[in-house]
Amino acid sequence: MFTLETAATAAYVVAALLFILALAGLSKHETSRAGNTFGITGMAVALVATIALAINHQIEPLGLALLIGAMAVGAAIGLWRAKVVEMTGMPELIALLHSFVGLAAVLVGWNGYLHVEGDAGGTEAALLSEQGMLGIHSAEVVIGVFIGAVTFTGSIVANLKLSARIKSAPMMLPGKNILNVGALVAFLALTVWFVIDPSLWLLVAVTVLALLLGWHLVASIGGGDMPVVVSMLNSYSGWAAAASGFLLGNDLLIITGALVGSSGAYLSYIMCKAMNRSFISVIAGGFGIEAGPSEDKDYGEHREINAEAAADMLTSASSVIITPGYGMAVAQAQYGVADLTRKLRDRGIDVRFGIHPVAGRLPGHMNVLLAEAKVPYDIVLEMDEINDDFDGTSVVLVIGANDTVNPAASEDPSSPIAGMPVLTVWDADNVIVFKRSMASGYAGVQNPLFFRDNTQMLFGDAKDRVDAILAAL
Ligand code: NDP
Repeated sequence: MFTLETAATAAYVVAALLFILALAGLSKHETSRAGNTFGITGMAVALVATIALAINHQIEPLGLALLIGAMAVGAAIGLWRAKVVEMTGMPELIALLHSFVGLAAVLVGWNGYLHVEGDAGGTEAALLSEQGMLGIHSAEVVIGVFIGAVTFTGSIVANLKLSARIKSAPMMLPGKNILNVGALVAFLALTVWFVIDPSLWLLVAVTVLALLLGWHLVASIGGGDMPVVVSMLNSYSGWAAAASGFLLGNDLLIITGALVGSSGAYLSYIMCKAMNRSFISVIAGGFGIEAGPSEDKDYGEHREINAEAAADMLTSASSVIITPGYGMAVAQAQYGVADLTRKLRDRGIDVRFGIHPVAGRLPGHMNVLLAEAKVPYDIVLEMDEINDDFDGTSVVLVIGANDTVNPAASEDPSSPIAGMPVLTVWDADNVIVFKRSMASGYAGVQNPLFFRDNTQMLFGDAKDRVDAILAAL
């Protein structure tokens, strides 16, 4: 028989399929808009079905008003933030959103405890114990609270690091690996104890332990590894949502959480491979990494160039590679860079782009900016495709990039970014670095590239400098 219940279940299946289509769409540049539309539609279907179910379960008018009121306030804040956020502020916003998922999972877990284990004489506890499911419920509570709390504080630290409100350098507590492993062992012991004999103080202990562990895990990871941390927290937030789905008996939340959790884990794995990092080491809060920041070395003097001389160098070049980074995004220099590319190509100069997998502050950040400025896709190459071509290139323009072109990664084993593959721009005949000062990049590591014989610094805001070169051309 057709009931509101069966309609809602059908709607959940449709929403789950739309979420899968969203993920498939988002995996390619050309289909990403369609992927986004699938995701938005899936979420709208899921929300309508959930409200319909609540009405069907005779939710009190006050409850319904609170639900709709909370959604309206949340949607208004979400729309406002999404409208005003700069592209460069996106990762910190995403980290903050992950923290909300973690907090929600903690609250759902606590709510589950207060309604069942905390109300031992109540109907829900009686029903679950009759079905022999009380222990499973307790395990769901404690695991959900743990994953949620780790995600909550971990994401807050990530947000603070990404917005530069705390230092991006790794926090190095003595015995940090033992602290992490000890916290996991304590969690396992507390979980078993809670399942056997649930009590309030045990849940408080697990919550505090997980909040501290989340903070410590992310604080221990250096700036250069933050891209992996963001995708890892994305994964954790998915597992936190799935844990809430089990507690609330909501299949769609379980499916969605598992999709986010597994795709986030896979993205973290791909990023670790791209950065030559051990996946296990990063998810375990930098486990096994003991290198501190490299000491201040004297690299000698740097040379400067002005916009006119840079324009001259470019006009006499036969080939140019542009390697953009975070500074191009900050300066919004991509439109000028696109104009410069057109002008140089019109003069018969071969111009291409080399994109590092973690350039900027988001996976694909540079590709999005260049596509926005209408730079043709076919001249925008990934690091692996272009790295062998720097040798023999006349001029490389490093526009607001720093860590991603740092030779210390391949030459200095004591460097915090040692082992990370970088764009080997120094193999070119000439390198011009656009930045405002000699300041280090996101990982806080000095860049010996700036002191090489074939490198010249073009100081100033990247957009102004590109415009000045365009004027000189
Ligand atoms: P970096 O962050 O290493 O360096 C950017 C450089 O841009 C700075 O040295 C800065 O120097 C310069 N800059 C800033 N503003 C301007 C401006 N207006 N005009 C000109 N220059 C400017 O950039 P990369 O892209 O090379 O590396 C990305 C880093 O971010 C990596 O360490 C990566 O691990 C990390 N990261 C990446 C994420 C991702 O998903 N892609 C996410 C989180 C972190 P100055 O101040 O002197 O101008």
